[in-house]
Amino acid sequence: MGPSDRKRKLDLSDGSSEKKEKDTNPWTGNAYSEQYQKILKARLKLPVYQFKDKLLDAVANNQIVVVEGETGSGKTTQIPQFLVEAGYAEQGTNVVACTQPRRVAATSIATRVADEMDVKLGEEVGYTIRFEDVSNYNKTVLKFLTDGMLLREAMSDPLLSHYSVIVLDEAHERTLATDVIMGLLMEVLPKRTKDSKHGELKVVVMSATLDAEKFQEYFNNAPLMKVPGRTFPVEIFYTAKPERNYVEAAVRTTLNIHKCEGPGDILVFLTGEAEIEQACEEIRASAAEMSGKDTPELVVYPLYSSLTPAQQRKIFDKAPGPKVEGGLPGRKVVVSTNIAETSLTIDGIVYVVDPGFSKQKVYNPRIRVESLLVSPISRASARQRAGRAGRTRPGKCFRLYTEQSFHEDLQETTYPEILRSKMSNVVLTLLKLGIDDLVHFDFMDPPAPETLMRALELLHYLGAIDDEGSLTELGYQMSDLPIDPQLAKMIITSSDYGCSEEIMSIVACMSVPQVFMRPREAAKAADEAKAQFSHPDGDHLTLLNAYAAYATVPKAEKKQWCWDNFINDRSMQSADNVRRQLTGIMNKLQLPLVTTDRRGNGKFDYTAVRQALTSGMFMQVAFLQKQGNYLTVKDNQIVYIHPGSVIDTKPEWVMYEEFALTTKNYIRTVSTTRVEWLVEMAPHYYDLSNFPECEAKAELELAYRRLAHSSK
Ligand code: ADP
Ligand code: MG
Repeated sequence: MGPSDRKRKLDLSDGSSEKKEKDTNPWTGNAYSEQYQKILKARLKLPVYQFKDKLLDAVANNQIVVVEGETGSGKTTQIPQFLVEAGYAEQGTNVVACTQPRRVAATSIATRVADEMDVKLGEEVGYTIRFEDVSNYNKTVLKFLTDGMLLREAMSDPLLSHYSVIVLDEAHERTLATDVIMGLLMEVLPKRTKDSKHGELKVVVMSATLDAEKFQEYFNNAPLMKVPGRTFPVEIFYTAKPERNYVEAAVRTTLNIHKCEGPGDILVFLTGEAEIEQACEEIRASAAEMSGKDTPELVVYPLYSSLTPAQQRKIFDKAPGPKVEGGLPGRKVVVSTNIAETSLTIDGIVYVVDPGFSKQKVYNPRIRVESLLVSPISRASARQRAGRAGRTRPGKCFRLYTEQSFHEDLQETTYPEILRSKMSNVVLTLLKLGIDDLVHFDFMDPPAPETLMRALELLHYLGAIDDEGSLTELGYQMSDLPIDPQLAKMIITSSDYGCSEEIMSIVACMSVPQVFMRPREAAKAADEAKAQFSHPDGDHLTLLNAYAAYATVPKAEKKQWCWDNFINDRSMQSADNVRRQLTGIMNKLQLPLVTTDRRGNGKFDYTAVRQALTSGMFMQVAFLQKQGNYLTVKDNQIVYIHPGSVIDTKPEWVMYEEFALTTKNYIRTVSTTRVEWLVEMAPHYYDLSNFPECEAKAELELAYRRLAHSSK
């Protein structure tokens, strides 16, 4: 069935008079709401509308189309709807998917588009992000999902048979998952032509930058469509000298704009939650001081991923009006992470403050450490950021670095993430998809061979692949869990240690934002609250205790309990949800759910729990040096236990979840382990015939001797 047939079917769902048809929502059968009509007016003004017929023609005539257009021209919110209206979607069988690199973008845009289509979110329009599925298999026709989730779905549906169109949005971001999906689509598309079993699969690749030719080339010269955009000139200002503290400079600049510049909202780019909250507080405090009858009102909103959806929606609220009749209108300031660079467009921005930094993934295959580091942005990003000021009228962009720095220090573009990431998750996914020949997989930019090797090595040490590089049964099971391979291994083996319930609680808490809150002004009280749950053997066990305590609190009292105990209520709710999903996967894999708390009174066998933790984390171990610091085992990096850890003694052997590269090398989320477990569980990794010289080696040798002795 072609798209036109489907369209006819859709329109016929409501019969009778033309007038009625126009006012009736074909999906719900209800009359369109007032809100719908209001939004429609704004939508019709978006540049992408003039381009609708051309686009639909191109899609009808080609399997792949590349679309390039200014941020804010309506690509993300409108194009998927055009495709649905044109008949590409059908409930239960043909879904239009639109991928997003970021969770916040997926949820926020889905919410917006559900409003635009006048349907309930989770029904005709839905979203799927890791651990959260707000879509309906039989009803949803348009689904926003993270690129990572689409990759995950491909594992159980390699031909992506549930989809009729995949809109790969924000392709210019070149996230790891987007790059892998592109390679995958190159293999899937020839199998999803018109006469194939599941019908033709269309792909629309959307990009905000002028680099779209690269996509065109990669996708066998697919047509490239340019959305006619309109932008206004943006005046760029640089600082005369480099700024020492960019957060402070950003706050100062924002306040200056508020004092000295005409009306218009301000968008400030910072790198993460802590910085953003600090800046918001400082801007609010100073604005309150200068407030008077003739200074316009200033409202400040943060934007980062761990905010609640309701808080995130605030950024779209209109700036306040004038305080007094005839006075100057109020001003809105949004302090945001990189998400406002291209993913979300906030109308009304006239001023942009760009300190020139964002958090970026870096991977060092030599020491096997992936971290998020605050790094200088590229010139392409700087231009995008400036562009945010000129959407509705001429604007100004204040770059908090020198002009020379812009030309000489910034790179032209950011390296694609695939060149800056560990690949273990992706390699496991590709193996599950039956792609064994990673070297010849059609990556747009192939990852470094050393990175691929490190990934295969890690999977081999974990037992996910055999000597030939094929997935083992354990590997298959691990690939079903949407978490890091080390955590997956830990969960699966925890059944053998009788503590899968405990490990699932720990992993759930590790998969959500900070569980323990420590507000600056109440640090002491927060530390005391945390001490109730603290376990001397480490942070993982402390998380377990906190989760177990939370679980016993009656539902109606949970919120208050969290507040009283300095625990993040939202994180705990998410942890609950994650845990439910992990339980579901365990059941599906037929792995026994067992606990060491047999009486149900919160008395766990912490030794068993630490053993299970070690089974997944034996490669993230550090050994105490005579000098008092730690050295990571095998990679010999000097590290320190993060001051936020509950461990304040100096145990000989510790395992850690995260290696945070900051001014000092910290290991975070740390628990104690034992050398005899290491040599027993992972002799292939702790192979002393091939082991760097270090203080730990002698201890390992001893442990091997004791092991041999006891087994005699
Ligand atoms: P593009 O993908 O081309 O960058 P979008 O489709 O994201 O453009 O945005 C089109 C318009 O929709 C913008 O003017 C944006 O401000 C508006 N918009 C998107 N989401 C919301 C929302 N949640 N509330 C109000 N306006 C929104
Ligand atoms: Mg977009």
